Amino acid sequence: NMLRTSLLRQVSILTARHYGSGSVPTTKLFINGQFVESKTKKWIDVHDPATNEVVTRVPEATNGEMETAVAAAKEAFKSWKDTTVLTRQQHMFKLQNLIKENLTDLAKEITKEQGKTLVDAEGDVMRGLQVVEHCCSIPSLSLGETLGGIAKDMDTITYRMPLGVTAGITPFNFPAMIPLWMFPMALVCGNTMVLKPSERDPGACMMLMAMVKQAGIPDGTVNVIHGRHDAVNFICDHPEIKAISFVGSDQAGQYIYERGSKNGKRVQSNMGAKNHGVIMPDANKETTLNQLVGAAFGAAGQRCMALSTAVFVGEAKKWIPELIDKAKKLKVNAGKEPGADLGPLISPEAKKRVCELIQSGKDEGAEILLDGRGVTVKGYEKGNFIGPTVIHKVKPNMRCYKEEIFGPVLCSMEADTLDEAIKIINENPYGNGTAIFTTNGATARKYTMEIDVGQVGVNVPIPVPLPMFSFTGSRGSFRGDMNFYGKQGIQFYTQLKTVTQMWRSEDAGLSKPAVAMPVMR
Ligand code: NAD
Repeated sequence: NMLRTSLLRQVSILTARHYGSGSVPTTKLFINGQFVESKTKKWIDVHDPATNEVVTRVPEATNGEMETAVAAAKEAFKSWKDTTVLTRQQHMFKLQNLIKENLTDLAKEITKEQGKTLVDAEGDVMRGLQVVEHCCSIPSLSLGETLGGIAKDMDTITYRMPLGVTAGITPFNFPAMIPLWMFPMALVCGNTMVLKPSERDPGACMMLMAMVKQAGIPDGTVNVIHGRHDAVNFICDHPEIKAISFVGSDQAGQYIYERGSKNGKRVQSNMGAKNHGVIMPDANKETTLNQLVGAAFGAAGQRCMALSTAVFVGEAKKWIPELIDKAKKLKVNAGKEPGADLGPLISPEAKKRVCELIQSGKDEGAEILLDGRGVTVKGYEKGNFIGPTVIHKVKPNMRCYKEEIFGPVLCSMEADTLDEAIKIINENPYGNGTAIFTTNGATARKYTMEIDVGQVGVNVPIPVPLPMFSFTGSRGSFRGDMNFYGKQGIQFYTQLKTVTQMWRSEDAGLSKPAVAMPVMR
């Protein structure tokens, strides 16, 4: 019987996202706990990046549908905000368990729509799962402060109160992790949410919604709408939406931050990056080169924390030929093929843009030491593949340095000293992540103190903190005041209420109005 229940569960999660009429399945909206077919006339095709075959069609939700989603979230908030913190904790335990049970299927869905390799897709789910696991400690995370006796018989207490209806807008590169940065945190703090996943790969998010339903999380607490600019503008302008979490490109992030803030909303906006790895000549060569290659080319470079620029200090530049040898050995293949190290880029347009950026490096005087532009993958000739590429002698004024490439391309630079490397990095407008590779503690400490970047790795190439900390990108990579997840995430999704109360067994005996400012001594 247990097996049967578990199988039924699997089936309903797999079928959650689809199936309308026609040869290509449609992706549904998720409104008030129901998967509904959109009545829109505007549809967006989602392609498997390894084949460019259409795998689903995503609706641009109508205004009426988006209004229904907000109305459902508003209605659900009325009772959800009053659920006990232990009830919300129990929901997170169930959700956590369902995500774990469905890890493989979620990963397959990600690979089909996004292209990354299956093991990388599992990592995408697991990093999101860790946020849900962190949410399970909501009773202690939401503790407030108290101070007894601030005046005679008087105490002050703080409570973390939910905001109401919140919204999330997510990018294509982590179809499970980034929705999981948002809706579990929003919900566990007592809010409801309207989520707009990337229109390029919404499938994993829809499977997560089926799990939300199975976990018994009440209808309407989280709703999914689909679309592009109209949906984003709707979210930025809707008066019922109190806060927006955004992760994606600079262009969209700055726009959403400005439009949302102007409308009085809280906005947290994580954006693009150019992450530098500094290689000191005293580093452990073999490990460092392996770390660099993994962090530059993993996920085909489509990570906001990809280590996309290597700065070789002094003699470390002699290691570049070995780096190239390692990069050459990576296997480019469809993400579902065993042994694939990197999959395709998200779209033919993305591939074209990355190829142009590689060419711009050459045209502006850099050296292409490894060129992945010509790569073809047997059986997947129509896929958006680019092989590992290394552009050497890159200078800060080159286009390939100034723009986030978001492909399997490592820009390589040389510096004579650590100070020179620090100067280059601090002059770059982005502040998402960086890493230094060294065996010298003093060098590492100097670097961590002087570098103006939000997330720093010491011999750790992708230093994304676990959810008990927060994702702390800075400068051009972030707008807002409160970062994603961790304590900062709880602060983002709650507002403080302070209660000052006086309880005295006898009447206070106030004989006339106290008109002077109360100073509570
Ligand atoms: P994107 O900005 O194109 O899309 C993100 C979301 O914004 C989508 O839901 C999309 O529908 C919407 N959108 C796109 N263009 C818009 C516009 N002009 N106006 C309003 N809304 C718009 O981003 P993407 O290509 O899906 O994701 C890749 C980018 O995300 C990279 O720049 C990457 O560095 C960044 N990213 C950052 C982080 C981080 O935490 N800093 C994490 C992941 C990805």
